[in-house]
Amino acid sequence: MPFRLYAGSNLCYNLPMKLIIASNNAHKMREILEILGAEFPDMVTLKQAGLDIDVVEDGDTFQVNAIKKAEEVLKASGYPAALADDSGLIVDALGGAPGVYSARYAGEGHNDADNNAKLMRDMAGVPVEQRTCRFASAVALAREGKETICVIGFAEGILLTEARGENGFGYDPYFFYLPIGKSFAELSAEEKNAVSHRKHALEALLELLRREKA
Ligand code: IMP
Repeated sequence: MPFRLYAGSNLCYNLPMKLIIASNNAHKMREILEILGAEFPDMVTLKQAGLDIDVVEDGDTFQVNAIKKAEEVLKASGYPAALADDSGLIVDALGGAPGVYSARYAGEGHNDADNNAKLMRDMAGVPVEQRTCRFASAVALAREGKETICVIGFAEGILLTEARGENGFGYDPYFFYLPIGKSFAELSAEEKNAVSHRKHALEALLELLRREKA
């Protein structure tokens, strides 16, 4: 494949041309593509690559799970680079839950609505000053012949008692972002992608890659 060289391309970050996103979560993939798409025009999703890979997320930290997903997809896909995100909501009053279990807080096979309903039950009666929480996103990049790199980003918020907004996914309707005065589900995709945990993690990853190249 002939190299294309233009400002902002993978080559500026010393990355192979082909990069696969190691996720089956359509919402996360969309956000990653929106945040990184301009810089990495050759990214493909597992679905676009025709791959059906489901990595078991059995680690006890976001970073361990992200690294596992990126490395397993790198091996199984034959792509030279794989990017994975493992993320979730950390609620202080619940000792950090749902944390790495965010996707299955209400149990295996349950959906976002069930997870949010359980979260509201568990947080019933907790006063606003104790409803502090944060989203975390660990992003790992696995590459052929190189050590996997992993970074983490956070977004701080207050857990609402009622859902607000229709956008986003997962816990977004209950996550109130004070600097803008709206829940994440009330933000446009562009607004969320400018301040989210995923944005902070992906920015940190780009910074690491820039330093590698320098
Ligand atoms: P996993 O990273 O596939 O284990 O799942 C992450 C889970 O955390 C998702 O299913 C959501 O419930 C939640 N989550 C992660 N990022 C976000 C976000 O940006 N907004 C809302 N919920 C999120």
